Amino acid sequence: MDVPKYERARTFAFAEMALGQIRALDQAASPRNFAIWYHYTTGYNQPLNQAINETLKNKGRLSEADLEQIHRQYLADSRFGERIDSVGTRVLDEIQEVISTIDAAAGSATSYSKRLSAASETLARAGDGAALRSVIEHLVQAAKEMEASNKRLEARLASSRQEIEQLQHSLEAVRTESLTDPLTTLANRKFFDTALPKAIAEARGKGEPLSLLMADIDHFKSFNDRYGHLIGDQVLRLVALSMKQSVKSRGVAARYGGEEFVIALPNTTLAAAVLVAEQVRRAVMTKELLRRSSGERLGQLTISIGVAVLRTADNAPLLIERADKCLYAAKRSGRNRVICETNPEAQAESVTRVRVA
Ligand code: GH3
Ligand code: MG
Ligand code: MG
Repeated sequence: MDVPKYERARTFAFAEMALGQIRALDQAASPRNFAIWYHYTTGYNQPLNQAINETLKNKGRLSEADLEQIHRQYLADSRFGERIDSVGTRVLDEIQEVISTIDAAAGSATSYSKRLSAASETLARAGDGAALRSVIEHLVQAAKEMEASNKRLEARLASSRQEIEQLQHSLEAVRTESLTDPLTTLANRKFFDTALPKAIAEARGKGEPLSLLMADIDHFKSFNDRYGHLIGDQVLRLVALSMKQSVKSRGVAARYGGEEFVIALPNTTLAAAVLVAEQVRRAVMTKELLRRSSGERLGQLTISIGVAVLRTADNAPLLIERADKCLYAAKRSGRNRVICETNPEAQAESVTRVRVA
């Protein structure tokens, strides 16, 4: 499928901002530096942004070594990939161990049965008590060996079971981590990109409505410029928490980009979704921000929210695009408000805009 137009505009905006950063910091426009700054401007790779912000804060610049280190740590090596590989190797090792244990057990069972048939031949020929006793002693010995071998197999299988359970937990942890935004602990965009089409299919299957909220913090750039990225990050956490608390189990909230959030609300009409959006908007607005160290008042922050509801001919990108249009109608009409598709503001001629995370 072709990349939607609005998505293409976003990628161009990211690319231009990345180049702008490279120029501003007088760096080479190499693929490595471009990748670093492109990721930075999207805001999707939070640990990378944090590393850059901290280095800039401490040193005022990024040296060649810093860039190399940041690239290696946050982009070049796929950390999840490595961990999944290591879990995969452990699974294979474990399977190999179990197979050899089973082979060994099968070997002892074969030799046990050979010893049994040999004993039965000897028994047939045995003439006196001494010969009989010897056959029975051999049988008892073979049975003991078989029992010991079964015990070893049991113990090995029990420890395998434990190891496999641990591996399951490790896999689950890696999976959860790869779908969680580390800064806010909300679901990340990767998660949402698969969750939304699923929610759409489910809504269609059940004949239920599905609403989508798209939220963006108002004037966050100037907030960041004024108080710094670290405080900005704390605010992002706070906004995420307000969303979690307002949404609860009614839907899925995710961090969609830098200071943008998205919430899918299954089995929720447009009118009901607007109420949830209002609740989120008010929850953010009514929090007075204080600098923890000094108690300094940082004022209040607001968010704008766009709300759309699933239509018959929709798919995930179309639904997102409509919610996004409403969000920008909310921005145009003064910010700190909720606009849904049926509001007249949402119908107003849309301006050409380029969003950045
Ligand atoms: P508007 O009301 O139109 O949305 O204005 P705005 O300033 O919020 O919008 P803009 O998109 O111009 O700026 C978004 C800013 O969000 C840019 C960047 O400084 C900030 N931002 C994005 N991601 C992060 C992040 O992870 N941490 C911090 N601290 N700031 C971020
Ligand atoms: Mg904003
Ligand atoms: Mg934005």
